[in-house]
Amino acid sequence: MTKFTDLNLNPKVLKAIEEAGYENPTPIQAGAIPPALEGRDVLGIAQTGTGKTASFTLPMITLLARGRARARMPRSLVLCPTRELAAQVAENFDTYAKHVKLTKALLIGGVSFKEQDALIDKGVDVLIATPGRLLDHFERGKLLLTGVQIMVVDEADRMLDMGFIPDIERIFSLTPFTRQTLFFSATMAPEIERITNTFLSGPARIEVARQATASETIEQAVVQFKASRRDREGSEKRKVLRALIDAEGDKLTNGIIFCNRKTDVDICAKSLKKYGYDAAAIHGDLDQSQRTKTLDAFREGSLRILVASDVAARGLDVPSVSHVFNFDVPGHAEDYVHRIGRTGRAGREGKAITICIPRDDKALAAVEGLIQKEIPRLENPVKPEPKKEKPARPAKSEKADADTRESRKDEGRERRRDEKPAQKQERSSGRGGKHGKRDDKAVVGMGDHLPSFIALSFAERRAS
Ligand code: AMP
Repeated sequence: MTKFTDLNLNPKVLKAIEEAGYENPTPIQAGAIPPALEGRDVLGIAQTGTGKTASFTLPMITLLARGRARARMPRSLVLCPTRELAAQVAENFDTYAKHVKLTKALLIGGVSFKEQDALIDKGVDVLIATPGRLLDHFERGKLLLTGVQIMVVDEADRMLDMGFIPDIERIFSLTPFTRQTLFFSATMAPEIERITNTFLSGPARIEVARQATASETIEQAVVQFKASRRDREGSEKRKVLRALIDAEGDKLTNGIIFCNRKTDVDICAKSLKKYGYDAAAIHGDLDQSQRTKTLDAFREGSLRILVASDVAARGLDVPSVSHVFNFDVPGHAEDYVHRIGRTGRAGREGKAITICIPRDDKALAAVEGLIQKEIPRLENPVKPEPKKEKPARPAKSEKADADTRESRKDEGRERRRDEKPAQKQERSSGRGGKHGKRDDKAVVGMGDHLPSFIALSFAERRAS
C-alpha cells in the first residue's frame, strides 16, 4: 500500500497530514498526487468523500511552497460550484498549509468585495472562487489571471448542472495556455468530456470506484408510503419522517434530511422544530451568514439535524454523519449517490433512509438502476389509523393535536389552491356555496323559518 511518505510531498505538508491523523493516502490521493507533482494535468473521476480535496491541495501546496505571489496575479486558482464547497476547500488549505507560508483569498458570493480586493491587491498564492464571483472581480479590473500556474476545477459535473460551463470555458481562456490543470468530476457527461478534451493536455486519468458501489458501510432502506389523501401528503410524510427518526433512537447522533424543493426544506425544518427536534434548514435562499452559522453548528455537533437542499449540501464535509434521510427521492439518480455519500464516510458506518411516495416510483427505479442494486424495503413505521365510529372526543396528546392541526392547515391550503376564483370570492365575502347554501339539503321556500304571521289564517291576520 502506498504511504504518504512515498509521494514526494513537502515535509511540512507531511507533518500537517500526520497532525490531521491521516494514516494512508486514499486511492484518489495515491493516484493523483504523483502526476500532479510532476506538473502533469490530472483528470480525477471521484466524488466527495473519497479524499479528492486533499488529492489536489497537497500537491498544490508542495508546488507553491517555492516562489512568491505577485500583486493582483494569483499563482493558482481553484474553482468550486458552491460557496460552501469553496469555503471547505479553503479550510483544507488552512489545515494542510499550516506549516508553509502561503496566502489565499476566497471569492464567493455573500462575502464583501472590499476585503477580498485588499488581499488580491497584495498578491495571493491560492485563489479559491465560485465562477460567477471570479468573473465579477475580473471584469472590475481587479484581477489578472495571466499568472495562474495551476488551475483546479472541482465538481465539474455540478458546474454543468448549475449552468457554469460557459463561465468555466471563459476562465480557462483567461489563464495561460501553459498552466497545469487538475480537473475533478464525479461523472463524465459528454459535455464534461468535451471540456477536458479541449482544455487538458495528456492528463493522467484517475478513476476511483463509484461511491455507491464502494460504500458498503452504508445501510440503505426505502419506505414506500401512500398518503391517505393527496392533500395530506405533506403532513403525513413528515409524520413518517419523525417516526423514522424516532426509530433510530440514540444511533442517530446527527443526520441530514434532503428535500428536493427549497420550500420543503423550510417546511420540514420548521415542522421538526415544532415537534421538539433539534433541526435547522440550509438552502440557497438563506443569507450567507445564516448558512455559515447553521453549518458550523452542525459541524461542531451543537445542531443534530440539518435539513438541506442538494445544492446547499454539496461538498459539505461533516466527517461523522450517522444518518441521511431522503424526504423525497431525488430527481437525478446521481444526487442519491451524493446524498447518501454524506454518511458512511472514510469507512465509518452510516444509514440512509429514503421515503418514496407512488409519484416517485420512477425516480426510485432510476436510482436502483444506477447503483445496480435493489434498496431493501422498510415497513412504514406509521401504522394507518383504524377507521372507527366517531367516539365522544377522546383526550388527545399534545403531539396528536399538533398533528391534526398541521394536517388541517395543509388541507385548507390545498383546498384553497384548488378553488375556482368565484368560490374564493364567495368564501372571502362570507357567503356559503353557489346559492348561499351551507349544506346539501335543498331548501324550499323559506325552509323551516316560517314567519309566524304566515301560519295565521286570513281572518286572524286581518284581526291582528
Ligand atoms: P473529500 O472527498 O475531500 O471531501 O474528503 C472526505 C473526508 O475524508 C474529509 O473529511 C477528509 O478530511 C477525509 N480525508 C481526506 N484524506 C484522508 C485520508 N488520507 N485518510 C483519512 N481521511 C481522509
